[in-house]
Amino acid sequence: MDRENFLVELGEIVIEILRQIRQSGKTLSKEIFKEFLNKNKRFDDLLKNLECSSCIDEFVGNMNQILTRLNGIIPNNLILYYDEILKTGSVLQKKQIIFELVTTVVERLEKSLGSFDRIKSVISDIMTGINKTVSLLSDSEDENYKMLESDIESDKKLIDEINSTTQLILDEDSLEGVLTKLADKLKLISDSIKNKAEKKEKFLIDIKNKKSEIQNMSSSFAINKDSLEKIKSELENYKAQVIRDFLTGLYNRQYFDEIIERSIEEFDRYGKKFSLLFIDIDDFKAVNDNYGHVVGDFVLKYVSNIIKRSIRKVDLAFRYGGEEFVVVMPNTNLESAAKVADRILNDLRKTVFKYKNIDIKLTASIGLQEMKKGYNASQIVEEADKRMLKAKSSGKNRVVSEL
Ligand code: GH3
Ligand code: MG
Ligand code: MG
Repeated sequence: MDRENFLVELGEIVIEILRQIRQSGKTLSKEIFKEFLNKNKRFDDLLKNLECSSCIDEFVGNMNQILTRLNGIIPNNLILYYDEILKTGSVLQKKQIIFELVTTVVERLEKSLGSFDRIKSVISDIMTGINKTVSLLSDSEDENYKMLESDIESDKKLIDEINSTTQLILDEDSLEGVLTKLADKLKLISDSIKNKAEKKEKFLIDIKNKKSEIQNMSSSFAINKDSLEKIKSELENYKAQVIRDFLTGLYNRQYFDEIIERSIEEFDRYGKKFSLLFIDIDDFKAVNDNYGHVVGDFVLKYVSNIIKRSIRKVDLAFRYGGEEFVVVMPNTNLESAAKVADRILNDLRKTVFKYKNIDIKLTASIGLQEMKKGYNASQIVEEADKRMLKAKSSGKNRVVSEL
């Protein structure tokens, strides 16, 4: 039997046994293979051929050839041991070695086939991971879905490839061919898995970045929103404070300037009418002079209350200066404004300011004017002030709406 026939025969025997094992539904293992090899007729015949002494040299040559090829597949010390037996051993020993050798090769194959299972389980893990990722990112963008879909698709292709490779190897008719194909296919598959793993890693990094980007965005958005709300309410508090007069709690002069500008603009643009009262307490200096500034302050506060309770909610009362007050009355004509002015003055007249054992009675001079076309802020104030001064000059304690 020449070398080539020997290798072909041996390869065919191995493939035949592998097929038998597959058909039996048993899992390929060293023991199972040995069991099948033991009862294989062709293998028995092959070994019988070796009993012919003229075949021994050929046999040794063939086996050495196989051993060289198996270098790196079978451990070196085992190859040396087989080599030694093949050279110096008895025929029986040599038969035993060829039996061991074939089994070892198949065990190696089994390990390789086992690695298919491991590859499959890795793929299945990856797929499980993908499914988890899919559910985690269920609200993520469409492009992510597309990427995952194509990824799962390529996983399926890989599994198909592995299955077809297994079949291809089983169909191969020489041991040499099996090993070559196996090595080639394993290289292809491992390259493809490596490639996929790299892609997936990059994809996951992208997703992580995107996710943390979104988290950062939303948390910074929340911070911005919170701080904006805080700033807004602080500004509102601040504004509420800065527009008030510290002593009386009425709106102050600065706010009056703002309001009068706005009121004039609304009158010019939309024709929204308004009237203005200018109130000056009569002989207030005497209160300070007679009772002191503390009593003066107390009286100023009380006058402010009288003004406040005499006007509507939409009307705005300001402390314009020392003992001077202004009331802005939106949607109010001169006639109606005069009624409010009278009400304030009457209230004031009736009031006895009691401070400790001191009784103080006060009056005021009130000038009023209605907004007219062409007036600017200082003009309307001036017109009201003129009427207040007319009230003063005509005896105080009165309301003047006409010059
Ligand atoms: P007239 O009837 O002409 O208005 O006389 P009057 O005394 O009210 O007016 P005058 O302008 O002569 O004096 C106003 C006084 O108001 C002078 C000032 O001492 C007093 N005054 C101004 N602001 C305050 C304040 O915040 N507290 C106190 N206690 N007095 C003030
Ligand atoms: Mg005054
Ligand atoms: Mg006064």
